[in-house]
Amino acid sequence: MTKTESGQPESTAKTVDPPADSEIRVLNPATGEVVGSVPDTTAEQVVAAIAELREHQRAWQAIGADERKEWLLELQDWIIDNTEVLADVLQSETGKPRVDSLIDPIFGSDLIGYYARRAAKFLADEHPAPHSPLARVKRLTTVFEPYPVVGVITPWNFPLAMPLLDVIPALAAGAAVILKPSEVTPLSALELARGWAEIGAPPVLSVVTGAGATGAAVVEHADYIQFTGSTATGRRIAAACATRMVPYSLELGGKDPAIVLADADLDRAAHGIAFGGMFNSGQVCISVERVYVEAPVYDEFVAKLTANVKALRQGRDDRTPRNDVGAMANESQVGIVARHIDEAVAAGAKVLTGGKRTGVGTFFEPTVLVDVDHSMSCISEETFGPTLPVMKVADEAEAIRLANDSVYGLSATVWTGDKARGERVARALNAGAVNINDVFANLFNFALPMGGWGDSGVGARWGGPNGVRKYCRAKAITAPMLPTQERELTWMPYDLNKILIGLGAMRAAGARGMRRIDIGALLRLKGDNR
Ligand code: ADP
Repeated sequence: MTKTESGQPESTAKTVDPPADSEIRVLNPATGEVVGSVPDTTAEQVVAAIAELREHQRAWQAIGADERKEWLLELQDWIIDNTEVLADVLQSETGKPRVDSLIDPIFGSDLIGYYARRAAKFLADEHPAPHSPLARVKRLTTVFEPYPVVGVITPWNFPLAMPLLDVIPALAAGAAVILKPSEVTPLSALELARGWAEIGAPPVLSVVTGAGATGAAVVEHADYIQFTGSTATGRRIAAACATRMVPYSLELGGKDPAIVLADADLDRAAHGIAFGGMFNSGQVCISVERVYVEAPVYDEFVAKLTANVKALRQGRDDRTPRNDVGAMANESQVGIVARHIDEAVAAGAKVLTGGKRTGVGTFFEPTVLVDVDHSMSCISEETFGPTLPVMKVADEAEAIRLANDSVYGLSATVWTGDKARGERVARALNAGAVNINDVFANLFNFALPMGGWGDSGVGARWGGPNGVRKYCRAKAITAPMLPTQERELTWMPYDLNKILIGLGAMRAAGARGMRRIDIGALLRLKGDNR
């Protein structure tokens, strides 16, 4: 943070000095007020930052997971001790309600505890059992070696939590990290850099602020790219990574369906879906974005959902939590929500509550829409806003078919009183995660992979050991278990008889039935030499 205009604390974050005229202003979307400005980092400065990270990464890798754990837990302490200030900064650049602003630091601390404490176990060398008796002559080892510099590029919806989700596992893996936060909400990421500097940790985390061009420079020079954002930008990043032959993991858009079956606890479903659709003004990658309800309970469910959504308190919070729903991130998001609703209404949809922007700033009323179908943008495109379009379906099969009728496959929810039915529907859905009788639950379970299918992404974050191993190159090492001979049976120059013994043993170990011991077939391999 180079300067603040709203009383936010001056940051001592480590950033690259930009030319004075290239700065990005940060706005509070709830008020329109300028709350800070940050450097628009150039490609040359990104290159320099990555070169410096490379220097320090070697020592970071060398100290090992146990010492890295201590630094990560120091950071966890710092975040917990600074929760209020971090929430202030986050609130200033997002216009979120106070409760939502407190979530990022506390959720982030939970994740730090998980990966800090378990990374040593997850990264330990493995000695897998050989697949065949013949291979038992070798000691097998898998080693996990971090990519030197991981580039993490994040969006604006959770300005502190989003960076932490991926920065922490990458640091725990032994990589250095260059973080490019969204230009809309860069202040919280700079606070993270400030924390890392204040605890005196090794300089293996660098935050570069800027827009798409800064992100593109990170993609051009880092050794692994972890991206969260739009599908359109994700495709560009994937193409750039393919050209450089650099691995990547992308968490992209979503259009998460909720399926409400006739045997569901309708009160719970209505509360859960109202929360899942309206939390953070619907600006969550795994927000509920469309709802399919079995015909027998449709009217009752819609009435309950509408009542719940109507009851939500919306407005601008200060440090005292008062509201459930805050502002949207920026004008362009408001524009998308308004367009989706207008197009649906023009095509025959009905607004049961909400439907328009309200007050000063980027507030949009929590909205329930009915009489919608798959020809409408509110059902087929990602809205990323406070809308819940609801469709009546004949039965479970139609619900599954419509839920799967999307280019996206991030996550889904199913609401039912029947456990077996819940499991069955969950398995039938094309989605990276399905929560039964709950929303967002997978997000609070780092032992599970979080990734999207289809246009929702490539790869996954977390998933226990994979959460740190993804930031590593796996190396396979073999070593003889027995004293070695001058040469192996199968080495050149070939001795056909010895080769046949070797091939015969391999076939005996891998094949089944009589094929294991078919000497005649082996002899035929000798051809004219017989
Ligand atoms: P949104 O428009 O919703 O912010 P984006 O996918 O455009 O979603 O942005 C997500 C993140 O990706 C932001 O940090 C943004 O600056 C960054 N970004 C945008 N374009 C590029 C690009 N071509 N290469 C790398 N990062 C980019």
